[in-house]
Amino acid sequence: MHSRDLCLQADRQDELANLRHQFSLPHGVIYLDGNSLGVLPKTATARSQHVLEQEWGVGLIRSWNTARWFELPTRLGEKLGRLIGAEAGEVVVTDTTSLNLFKALAAALRIQQAQAPKRRVIVSERDNFPTDLYMMQGMIDFLQQGYELRLIDETLSLEQALTDEVAVLALSHVNYRTGAMYDMAEVTAKAQARGALVIWDLAHAAGAVPVDLNGADADFAVGCTYKYLNGGPGSPAFIWVSARHQDRFWQPLSGWWGHSRPFDMATDYQPAQGIRRFLCGTQPILSMSLVECGLDVALQVDMAALRKKSLALTDLFIQLVEQRCGHHPLTLITPREHASRGSHVSFMHPQGYAVMQALIARGVIGDYREPEVLRFGITPLYLGYADIWDAVEVLRDILDSASWNQPAFMARAAVT
Ligand SMILES: *Cc1c(COP(=O)(O)O)cnc(C)c1O
Repeated sequence: MHSRDLCLQADRQDELANLRHQFSLPHGVIYLDGNSLGVLPKTATARSQHVLEQEWGVGLIRSWNTARWFELPTRLGEKLGRLIGAEAGEVVVTDTTSLNLFKALAAALRIQQAQAPKRRVIVSERDNFPTDLYMMQGMIDFLQQGYELRLIDETLSLEQALTDEVAVLALSHVNYRTGAMYDMAEVTAKAQARGALVIWDLAHAAGAVPVDLNGADADFAVGCTYKYLNGGPGSPAFIWVSARHQDRFWQPLSGWWGHSRPFDMATDYQPAQGIRRFLCGTQPILSMSLVECGLDVALQVDMAALRKKSLALTDLFIQLVEQRCGHHPLTLITPREHASRGSHVSFMHPQGYAVMQALIARGVIGDYREPEVLRFGITPLYLGYADIWDAVEVLRDILDSASWNQPAFMARAAVT
C-alpha cells in the first residue's frame, strides 16, 4: 500500500473495522502498546459501576453467593479457555503471571520428581521475559535440591539444551522483545519426546495469535489478561493445566481457595479436584470482574480473521518503515516470516529511548525495551491500516527532523 488513500480503502473493506467502536480510545492517539496494557472496553465503565455500587455497595457479603463472586475464577477461565484451545475446567483466572508460573513450575517439578527424579534441569531462554527467569531462579534457590537453570541463546540451541537431565522446558510463545513466535506444537512434541514437561507463557500470545494448547498437547500454560485481552491495569492473570496433570499433585501455594471445602475451616489442606486447586487466596473481585468485558469482545471475533489482519498490519508497518524511514539506522528484529511472528513489531535504533519519547509526545504510543528497542504492538481489534500509515508518517518526521534530539526525551521515567 503506497498511499494513505489505499490504506483508507483497506479500512473500508475490513470486516473487523467496527470492533474498535467497542473500545473507548482517546482522541489524537494512535495506540501501539496494546501488547503492554490493552485499552478500555466501553462496557467496563457500566460494569465497574455495577460491581461497586450494587454488588459491593448493596450486596455486601451476600454477593459472594448472589453475584457469584466465588465462581469468577473458573467462570472467566472457561471463557478465556476458548481463546487458547482449552476445555472447560482447565483454566482459572487468578493471581499474576509471575505467581502462576511459580505454581505451574512447582507442579511440573513434583510430577518429574515422582517419575524421573534424576531430571534436575529447567530449560528456558536467555531472552525470555525477565520475571519468568527470576521466578525460576527463585524456585531453584528455594528448593535447594541442586536444580539448575539452562538458558538457550546464540551459543546453545533448543536441541542441544534438551538432554535427558531436563525436567521442564518453560518458554514464552511470543517473545516480548522481538515478537518472535515458536511453533507450539512442534516444540512441545520435541521436548516431550525427550521426557520434559512443557510450560508456555502466553502473555504476548493470548488474544493476539491463535493458540491451541490441547491441540499442541502442552502440559501447563500461564499468561496475562491486561495485554491483548484488555482486562485493565494489573488485572488477574490465568493458568491452564492439562486435564491429565490436574489431580496428580498440588501446587505449594495451597491457600484456602484451592481447598476442596474451604468453608469447613478444617485444619488440614485437602486440594479441590481439578483446576480450582491452582487458586490460592481471596481474589481481587473488582479488577477480575472487568476481565470479562475484554473477553466478551475477543470472543466475538474469529481468531483466524484476527490473525489475518494482524499479519497484514504488521507486514504493512514493516514495509512502510523500511520504505519511508529506510535511510535512518533502524534494524528490524522481528521475524519477517509469518509463521514466526506474533502481533508486535520491534526495530532497534541507537537513540531508541528518545525516539519513542518523541513519538509518545506526538500521540503515537508504543514503548521502549532495552537495548535500543522501539516496540510497536499491532492490535487488530482497534487499529486500522490508516493508523499504521499515520504512525509511520510521524516516525518519519521525527527521524528526518531529528526532533527526538532534546533533553526532555532523554530523561528516563520509572516505567518505560
Ligand atoms: C508481561 C509479561 C509478564 C508479566 O508478569 P506479571 O506477573 O503480570 O508482572 C510475564 N511474562 C511475560 C512473558 C510477559 O510478557
